Amino acid sequence: MSGDSRPVELVADLRNVIGEGPVWLEDEQRLVWVDIKGHHVHWLDPKTGRLEQIDVSADVGAVAPTTSGALIAAAGNGFQALDQKSGRIKTLAVAEPDRPGNRMNDGKCDSRGRFWAGTMADDETPGAGGLYRLNLDHTVDRMLSDVTVSNGLDWTADDRLMYYIDSASHRVDVLDYESSAGTIANRRPLIQIDKSDGMPDGMTLDAEGGLWVALWGGWSVRRYRPDGSFDLEIKIPVGKVSSCVFGGPDLSDLYITTAASGLSEKQLEKQPHAGGLFRCRPGHGGRPPYRFGG
Ligand code: ZN
Repeated sequence: MSGDSRPVELVADLRNVIGEGPVWLEDEQRLVWVDIKGHHVHWLDPKTGRLEQIDVSADVGAVAPTTSGALIAAAGNGFQALDQKSGRIKTLAVAEPDRPGNRMNDGKCDSRGRFWAGTMADDETPGAGGLYRLNLDHTVDRMLSDVTVSNGLDWTADDRLMYYIDSASHRVDVLDYESSAGTIANRRPLIQIDKSDGMPDGMTLDAEGGLWVALWGGWSVRRYRPDGSFDLEIKIPVGKVSSCVFGGPDLSDLYITTAASGLSEKQLEKQPHAGGLFRCRPGHGGRPPYRFGG
């Protein structure tokens, strides 16, 4: 750990139902994230502390910046252009026309500007979800089937590997990645998370290739080395820790989203900041996000 490590601080006490999908917007120096079941997109300007939000009137699993400065969302029935003023969404492509019981979940752009996002059945029916790739021409390809809760994903800096989490598997998997065609192959387990430690949810890579994995029900974010070995754990004062990303002027602040969903009044007394956005400075830095190029 470097000398400037700081304790975990609460930076937005919004009691998100399911806070998720934090992305650092470099141009704006702001963080954007979603509340999937609260149907909101949120922004934080850490310099001023200013918060903004819009209601998108749909389950919103993830957002990503575009090369034109707009935002694209995995929301409602698929991939949507998002009007940042009104919150209105406009469908670019339907992900699963045949599966009305599913919703969009976590997503991220790859180095060639494609937007990947997964789905899950709202009732978590095993194997009902998938992982989809929105191409620059707005066509959609199904990249993985038989997924239960499609969640975190990221690519190594050399673009040779993709990491992927189906939360229900309790694993982080690794796949070979071919960036020009955007294809994946040879999926295999990398990290097995013990059930008593929570479920792996969102994830991000740091600049050294370490994997930061949010543990839903695990009150923590963990760092694993690229070989899958455990490195360190950061405790969060909320049980349902959903995702994390590096942001801030030097990309060394780790922002962490959490959820308040399903908690009783009594449980909320023990974790009053459930659904809040947290931040710490763990002594590692991240990379800026890729943007949708279509
Ligand atoms: Zn998630």
